[in-house]
Amino acid sequence: MQCGLLGARLAHSYSPQIHQLLGNYSYRLFEVEEAHIAQFLNNTDFRGLNVTIPYKKTVIPFCQELSPQAQKIGAVNTIVRRDDGTLIGHNTDYFGFMSMAQKSGLSFAGKKVLVLGSGGASNTVCTVLKELQANYVVISRNGENSYNQLHLHQDCAIIVNATPVGMYPNTGISPIDLSLFPKLEGVLDLIYNPAKTKLLQDAESRHLTAMNGLWMLVAQAKESAQWFTGCKIDDSHIERIYCALQTQMRNIVLVGMPGCGKSTIGHALGKALNRPFVDADDEIVKTAGISIPAIFEQSGEAGFRTIETQVLQQITAKSGTVIATGGGCVARSENIPLLRQNSVVIWIQRPLEALPVDGRPLSQANKLSLLYEKRRPLYETASDWVIENKNSIENAVEKILAKLTGEHP
Ligand code: NAP
Repeated sequence: MQCGLLGARLAHSYSPQIHQLLGNYSYRLFEVEEAHIAQFLNNTDFRGLNVTIPYKKTVIPFCQELSPQAQKIGAVNTIVRRDDGTLIGHNTDYFGFMSMAQKSGLSFAGKKVLVLGSGGASNTVCTVLKELQANYVVISRNGENSYNQLHLHQDCAIIVNATPVGMYPNTGISPIDLSLFPKLEGVLDLIYNPAKTKLLQDAESRHLTAMNGLWMLVAQAKESAQWFTGCKIDDSHIERIYCALQTQMRNIVLVGMPGCGKSTIGHALGKALNRPFVDADDEIVKTAGISIPAIFEQSGEAGFRTIETQVLQQITAKSGTVIATGGGCVARSENIPLLRQNSVVIWIQRPLEALPVDGRPLSQANKLSLLYEKRRPLYETASDWVIENKNSIENAVEKILAKLTGEHP
């Protein structure tokens, strides 16, 4: 059975991985230009299709029937070819966002919810919010409820981001300032790449419920797979696939004092997990074309940190990689969101007396204990877990592997 995804640019799609975990059918990516959509739909032998940007409305005239949800939302993200050859259009994003809203644990009834953006995804979100009896307001760059009128909505309890602001590759920006909303309980961001947009990191730092769009993506795929195959798939598979993807996609970033064992542990961890390993210091040397002590000599610490941030921007945007960072990368505040956007960040702690200083300009120039006191709160802010490297590298790697397994046993 042939199924697939129809869209304009699909290079970064996770759908093939998700559908591979959902059912026993072939799933291909179909990148088609708008002018060839009619020809594609009429002449391609497929049983089921997912439809993504920018064709969710374009495909409607080619469907002989629309499901009630597709009609209500005015967009189709799933097409099934029936036995008589006719096409029926569904909208499984509705189920996807409903499932995400429920999974978030937030209660929506009677609450004020701001929905950022007025595109296709916003329509779906609003249809679900109506069903959940929330009082939603669409915030748009134009019209009466614009970003200049946010002071009228200080009583908002939940924010849903249905804009592409903060999405890869334009990460590190947020569509809204959360400090404006003292009654805020949670933020749902439909973006899933990066896993933690700046908006979600801001929500987390305020101890609010924060959830990305990966759950929605998996849930809508599950419902699509049901339409493709005609078989019911239990909802428990959403969680199974979500956890598998989350683990597969995220990076493991090691931070800690110079000489604490990040590179050696990272290398061994990459091997144990069969994942690529990247050493940020090696990338800095490659980028600069000279050694780290030579960079310090020529450009000082500021020059080194500038190259380091450029390198971190590139390597932290990857997925499924083990990354060892330089000891001082936490000293620049703009590096922290980069470290955290797609990763679990592990702080490797080693007793100060065991830290080597050879070839490490900052460790030689400063008293290690003073350097550590300065950096300790920064490592704390940046990291999700702490792992002690007291005995052997093997022992530290084992502890990390155990912690990773313990997350989704
Ligand atoms: P879209 O139609 O291209 O854009 C949505 C809206 O975002 C636009 O109508 C616009 O609303 C606002 N917007 C666009 N650029 C902006 C900017 N620079 N600054 C502020 N607002 C901007 O996209 P969509 O299909 O609705 O998707 C929106 C997001 O949801 C995307 O990131 C998409 O990847 C994600 N999504 C995720 C899932 C999932 O399963 N997780 C499913 C569907 C979509 P205004 O003109 O009113 O400001």
